Amino acid sequence: MENTIAAISTSTGNGGIGIIRLSGKNTFNIIEKIFRPKNKSNEIKGYSIKYGNIINPKNNEIIDEVLVSYFVSPKSYTTEDMCEINSHGGMIVEKRILEICLENGAELASPGEFTKRAFLNGRIDLSQAESIIDLINSKSEMEAKESINQLEGYLSTKIKEIEQEMLDIMVNIEVTIDYPEYDVEEVTNVEALEHLKKIKGLLEKLEGSFEKGKILRNGIKTVILGKPNAGKSSLLNLMLKEDRAIVSDIEGTTRDSIEEYININGIALKLIDTAGIRETDNVIEKLGIEKSMKLADSADLIIAIFDNSRELDENDRKILDFIKDKKAIIILNKVDINLNNEYNEKEISNLCKPTIKLSAKFGNGLDELYEEILKLFQFNEISNNNELLITNERHKTQIRKAKENIEKAMETIESLMPVDIISIHIKEALSDLGEITGENVSQNIIDEIFSKFCLGK
Ligand code: GDP
Repeated sequence: MENTIAAISTSTGNGGIGIIRLSGKNTFNIIEKIFRPKNKSNEIKGYSIKYGNIINPKNNEIIDEVLVSYFVSPKSYTTEDMCEINSHGGMIVEKRILEICLENGAELASPGEFTKRAFLNGRIDLSQAESIIDLINSKSEMEAKESINQLEGYLSTKIKEIEQEMLDIMVNIEVTIDYPEYDVEEVTNVEALEHLKKIKGLLEKLEGSFEKGKILRNGIKTVILGKPNAGKSSLLNLMLKEDRAIVSDIEGTTRDSIEEYININGIALKLIDTAGIRETDNVIEKLGIEKSMKLADSADLIIAIFDNSRELDENDRKILDFIKDKKAIIILNKVDINLNNEYNEKEISNLCKPTIKLSAKFGNGLDELYEEILKLFQFNEISNNNELLITNERHKTQIRKAKENIEKAMETIESLMPVDIISIHIKEALSDLGEITGENVSQNIIDEIFSKFCLGK
């Protein structure tokens, strides 16, 4: 890249330190103009740090006392010459230093431009660059772990393996086309069909991992469903371990709809409290439950909570009916009130849903609930093996497209079309996968991906 870019890389606000980053051919020239190291040596070594002052070269005013790290091309984040100025934290100082960099030849970096350069300069591929945003935005340890795997190139390696399989078929087909006198077309077709089946299987497995990956990325969207006074707010509070919602003896006092993230063994649970949805007028209480159900319709998980100190009523039954075919866990709440409600249990057991007896007031049963959630989403498995998960919508779309092209190739063989037509579809599939790693991807897509980055990354 011709120009040298600069940006504040730490988040805004008053932190202990701030980092202003520079990358490009002119980095060291600019630093020389604005930085007065205490140790006067002019030598620039990669991976070294110098201590000194940032000054305004116009009037020699000292802006801050800083540490400057040097990265000599190609051993840097962007592969270009880079410096990171560690200043004192705080908006004013950081902004002043950035301004001085800009006044002395740097240009303000656009969001994600450092990472974009790392990609354009070939240090990382596109899926690795995307994993960096995912890592920064991770809401759970599991998601972060998946992003790191992707950054380390797990996905790229897998995609390359599948691409290689496709290329192997292409080679065989080319031979058939180039040497028709050998009359190997029939053999090639049978072999190619087998091979394509295998590739389709690999792509399907990857595509299928997206649902799990999506949950990993966004958290398990969870709605707690129950009639008024069943204990929704109490359960939510117990899970959040802090009093966010108002718990009250008066029905319907919880008004705010609340969204919170909690962490269960590294999996994010996005909790949506529907307690506030209930209409104030008792007559239309049902409407409230219906509204909650609407919210629950788009949830990944429903926690249906019932007051087990009373007999189930019409509202409870409505909820039971609603969750019949959904991913749900049933909670029999208020078990601390010692009542024998076998009828409830019997009725509920018909649904064959995981059922947990719990006291939202005293907290017993919560561990069982968490265990059940992890089991339901099979997250007890991925922590053990390093299963590759697709977490990115764009990647999933490309994998699906590749799979469809492989299917087309299979159809061409099955309908005995000429062998060169098969190769057209395989080439398409190769190009679909190439877009994941960024080998053949349009400028628009690249721009769109990097625009999602934060400034200074
Ligand atoms: P919501 O209307 O479903 O949100 O229910 P709340 O969480 O506001 O609870 C209604 C009432 O039941 C409150 O008085 C709670 O203290 C009480 N409650 C909730 N869970 C339990 C429980 O496990 N045991 C007992 N004894 N009371 C509970």
